[in-house]
Parts: sequence; structure tokens; C-alpha cells
Amino acid sequence: MKSEDWYTTNNITLLTGCAAVALDATAKQVTLSDGKIFQYEKLLIATGTHNRKWTIPGANKKSVHYLRTLDHAKAIIKDLHDGKSHAVIVGSACVTYEVADILRSKEIEVTEVMREHYFWEPALSQDEASIVEERLVERGVTLIRDMEITEVIGGDEVEGVILKDGRMLHCDMVFAFIGVDIPTNWLISSGITLDRGIHANQYLETSLPDVWVAGDTARYKDVILNDSVVMGNWMNATKQGETAAMNMLGDKKGFELVSFHSSHGFGDMISFAGDGRAKEDREYIMRGNISERKYGRIILCENHIVGATMINRTQELTSAARLQYMHGLLLR
Ligand SMILES: Cc1cc2nc3c(=O)[nH]c(=O)nc-3n(C[C@H](O)[C@H](O)[C@H](O)COP(=O)(O)OP(=O)(O)OC[C@H]3O[C@@H](n4cnc5c(N)ncnc54)[C@H](O)[C@@H]3O)c2cc1C
Repeated sequence: MKSEDWYTTNNITLLTGCAAVALDATAKQVTLSDGKIFQYEKLLIATGTHNRKWTIPGANKKSVHYLRTLDHAKAIIKDLHDGKSHAVIVGSACVTYEVADILRSKEIEVTEVMREHYFWEPALSQDEASIVEERLVERGVTLIRDMEITEVIGGDEVEGVILKDGRMLHCDMVFAFIGVDIPTNWLISSGITLDRGIHANQYLETSLPDVWVAGDTARYKDVILNDSVVMGNWMNATKQGETAAMNMLGDKKGFELVSFHSSHGFGDMISFAGDGRAKEDREYIMRGNISERKYGRIILCENHIVGATMINRTQELTSAARLQYMHGLLLR
């Protein structure tokens, strides 16, 4: 992300091409995959998430794509230059939406196969999803709902996919966007508390002394929501890095943020703030109307704003986030 000079100027030793494979919090040591051992005084774990590996037969063929690293992006661009013309996208969420937009702009035929009953369920309501689905279909994307793929067929190259109902779809590229896993295996022997992420308090301190966590890998105590959550977005990760750094330097700063993130595609903007998880105790205030394609909802729990989802109403989303933040502080 930065030039090598930036690291040198800021007195940061950058090691690439190796992974942390073990943590000994008593000896305060991290072991790397090349066998080197690092001694630390204070440790920050910010290992993010990994793309979930697709394990069905044929999923290891060339042109079955993931999207996380620069190499992934280069492999996709190469396929586009090589004249691939039919893509199947597996999954329905922000990345599938944005990739569908890019592929359609290159006139690639796109079929999106989703396990869900509607697009981006349950992060979007069915009403909200109808706006997105209408746009996808209008722009030539074929949607297949309530469906899974059982096999990718072909030789070295992808020639198609087999659906659970036995149908075959011809394609020469597949995009496997089937979710993420939080990589914590290397920490199991360390004794750190894991709970679908690395458990942390509001100061981003883990259960081990002098070990902090930040970003997508943290399940932290959110004082605004009064809940333990994992937030997988860039704003949250960046701000947690700042808070963790201050605390590693001796501060005792609680992490207080209502983060938001957006997905852009086909000229629309889908935005989320706070906690959008579908839960039984949630109530909704609907905003705008579907026909104008400016629609969304403010999400309440016990009369407090806990989140918001907005399509083409981003300004309102930031207001909801501000209200949620202030309300959260008042309640403490
Ligand atoms: C395609 C895509 C599009 C996205 N678009 C948006 C968006 O529009 N808006 C938004 O808010 N968010 C978006 N996100 C999510 C956003 O990128 C993440 O929330 C953010 O990058 C999390 O930052 P992080 O530092 O926690 O983890 P990451 O950015 O995932 O960084 C983790 C780093 O740790 C390294 N690592 C992992 N394990 C080890 C180990 N054992 N040893 C050493 N290193 C290790 C990884 O290689 C990686 O370099 C997107 C994500 C993807 C994949």
C-alpha cells in the first residue's frame, strides 16, 4: 500500500512473504513461517479475514476467481484480456454487485447464482433487495435464487457449472464470493480467547497481556451497541488501528465508532451504518419509497437506533449514524 521508502522513513521494518504461525504470550514471542522468532514488548494482531475456500469438485480450475489480493485482481484482468465472455458469480453481496457491474461494462454475460431467497439476504430487506435486483436484471444480469452449484466442469479451463437441480450453465469464468473466514488457527495454542474472531474489550485489549487486536479479525465490545461484534469494513479497521495504537502507547481509550460503508454499482449506492444484523428484537422505520429508488430503513432495538441501511439516501445514513453515536454515549 505504501512505498518501501515510507516504511524506512517511519522506522518500520516490513517483512513480506511470510506469516505469523505461533504466538507465545508468556515468552512474548511470535514465530514466523520462515522459522524466525520475534521478541515483542507489545503486539497488535490485525490479520483481517481470508476468502472462504470453495471446495466443490472443479473449484481449483483456472478461471475460478476470488478477489482479495493484487494477484487475484491481475488474474481476473488477464481473463478479460484473453476474451472470456461468460461469467457465473456465486453469492450475493457487495463484492458480487460491484464485480457484476464491471463485468457488464465489458459486455460479459453474467449469471449470479445465490443460495439466498433474494439478493444480499439478510443484510438487505426484501423490499430493498427488489430495487437492487431490478437494476441487475435491467442491466442484463441473470439471477438464479435459492440455488447452489455442485461442480465446476471442464478440463484445465472452466467450461460450465452444474447446479443442484441438475441444470448445466455454460461459462468460462466463475467468481467464488462465498464469504470469509477469520484466520485464528495459528493462535489456538496461545490460549488467547477466540469467539468467531479474537475476543477483545472496548480498549481492544485481548485476553492476553500486552496483546491488542484491530480490524476485521476483532470481536470487540462495542460500547455504542452494548454488544460484542465483528465489523468487517474499512472505516472500522482503520479507526481501530488508531485506537489500538494509542492504547499500546499507554493511553486507555475506548473504541467508540458507528462505522459505515457503501457499495457502488450500476449507478446506485447501497450504504450501511452500525449493526445491520437481522435479529428478532429489531424494529424498522422505513424511509423513502421504492419507486424513486431512494429507499431504506433505520434499525431500532428497544427504541434505540442500532443501524441503518439506505439505497441512494447516503446523507440520511450519516445522520442516523450520528444519532446512534450520540444516543449510545448518552446511555453509558
Ligand atoms: C474485494 C473487497 C472489496 C471491499 N470493499 C470494501 C468497501 O468498499 N468498503 C469497506 O468499508 N470495506 C470493503 N472491504 C472490506 C475491507 O477491505 C476490510 O474491512 C479491511 O481491509 C479490513 O482491514 P484489516 O486490516 O482488518 O484486514 P486486511 O485488510 O484483510 O489485512 C489483513 C492482513 O493480514 C495479513 N495476514 C493474515 N494472516 C496473517 C498471518 N498469520 N501472518 C501475517 N500476516 C497475516 C493478510 O495477508 C493481510 O495483509 C472489501 C473487501 C474486499 C475483499
